Amino acid sequence: MKTALFSHTDCLKHVEIPGHAEQRARLTAVLDAVRAADLDLVEHTAPLAKRADLLRVHNADYVDQILDNAPLEGWKQLDPDTAQSPGSAEAALRAVGAVIAAVDGMMASEYTRAFCAVRPPGHHARPGTAMGFCLFNSVAIAAKYARDVHGLSRVAVIDFDVHHGNGTQEMFWDEAGLLYASLHQEGFYPGTGKADERGKWGRIINAPLPAGTDGTAWRQAYEEHIHPGLQDFAPELILLSAGFDAHRDDPLAQFNLDSADFVWITDKLVALALETANGRVVSVLEGGYDLAALGRCSAAHVEALGKA
Ligand SMILES: [Zn+2]
Repeated sequence: MKTALFSHTDCLKHVEIPGHAEQRARLTAVLDAVRAADLDLVEHTAPLAKRADLLRVHNADYVDQILDNAPLEGWKQLDPDTAQSPGSAEAALRAVGAVIAAVDGMMASEYTRAFCAVRPPGHHARPGTAMGFCLFNSVAIAAKYARDVHGLSRVAVIDFDVHHGNGTQEMFWDEAGLLYASLHQEGFYPGTGKADERGKWGRIINAPLPAGTDGTAWRQAYEEHIHPGLQDFAPELILLSAGFDAHRDDPLAQFNLDSADFVWITDKLVALALETANGRVVSVLEGGYDLAALGRCSAAHVEALGKA
């Protein structure tokens, strides 16, 4: 079965302040590399998310602030790392819309794997605030959507971005039917993600690892700390917060992974999805700031998604 690729040119309307790492060129690098890899893909245009879907995880005041008070020119600073340009809200709505549409297509058995090449990223976005380059938490919204609209009982998000997805964790904290698991750099932005942060139902699994972690230690941490809990949970749908900033060339973080490590974890998660989730995996681009590594890793990841 072909892998679905969701994106939209509106994701380029979120314009970065000059010199910002989360730049438009990231999306172009990802799409160029994925398309050049000659994979068996079907491309889809991401729809705009509906306000009601944003409210599954975000406060109404915050949603209104982003949608109704966009700057007319230049930038509005939302947090020290995150700025809104005139087209940012539209970009973020396409990012959320991509993930929801990918879930819908999957639940309609049109395909079993999807990759959402979108920006801005989402996993730091909190219920009432933008944070860490993120406006709306696309993955968390789609997880709750899959549960509420498609009636799934167990949805898992696995986050292999080098930063901890504090927003997703916060949104999942009280939920028995949503699991969040993360591999991330310890003592690093945003400061959350300690191993003893487990959520109300023990459905949060954090594997913090020190700066300098290589692929061997990272794979071992997945096997020891994440895989057993994930397998016990038996997700009916797997969502990936696919950040590639744990790559050794990434300028923002200090892990030493290469593209083979991202292929390895993709293979593991696809295999688990085949056991428990009818093979369903929706992967969503989060971070990754070295353009060459980001392109290579994304293409290798999408190829691995489509293998089994
Ligand atoms: Zn990151």
